[in-house]
Amino acid sequence: MKIDQLSEGLARLAAVSRQDDWRTGEVEGLTPTQGDILRLLMTRPKGVRLSFASAHIGVSQPTGSDAVSALERKGYLEKISDPADGRAVLLRATPAGKALARRWPMSFGGMIEALSESDRVDLLGIVSRAILALQTQGAISRQRMCLSCRHFARDAHPGKSAPHHCRLMDVALGAGDLRIDCPEHREVNAA
Ligand code: SF4
Repeated sequence: MKIDQLSEGLARLAAVSRQDDWRTGEVEGLTPTQGDILRLLMTRPKGVRLSFASAHIGVSQPTGSDAVSALERKGYLEKISDPADGRAVLLRATPAGKALARRWPMSFGGMIEALSESDRVDLLGIVSRAILALQTQGAISRQRMCLSCRHFARDAHPGKSAPHHCRLMDVALGAGDLRIDCPEHREVNAA
């Protein structure tokens, strides 16, 4: 197999996805990094710390801080104190930020829509395994995904269409149900 061709194809898809972000950003007055933070805040309505947001979207903390300041100035994000630690600050989307995030295009949305359902399920498995491998190499920050979750029971239901199981929610998981970003995730080796 020609891995350079696979690499080329992935690079083209990544470029198209980022172009969508830039195009929307031009209209809305945001950078793609600011859009990434808004997207994240939509999945964490209680708010997140800057360190978490920066690691999650794969930027340094200073870069994350600049993006957060810009979002705050534009009225899309607010800082609130963390109920778990009064000295810490959480970032939360404002109503205007939530409205903008809903207009922001889904990453790789065009490609995903062009695929069949079975191809999407296959791709989700491939992406999950690729992220896990990169995490193991230390090339990507830890993601809150099923494959690295202590609640995940692989092949708990052999031969079934949903062979895996989430012990926390007590539900069977099929290949298409795997989560890449789950708020309930607990790292396998966490205390
Ligand atoms: S808690 Fe979330 S990440 Fe963990 S197994 Fe269940 S669905 Fe997956």
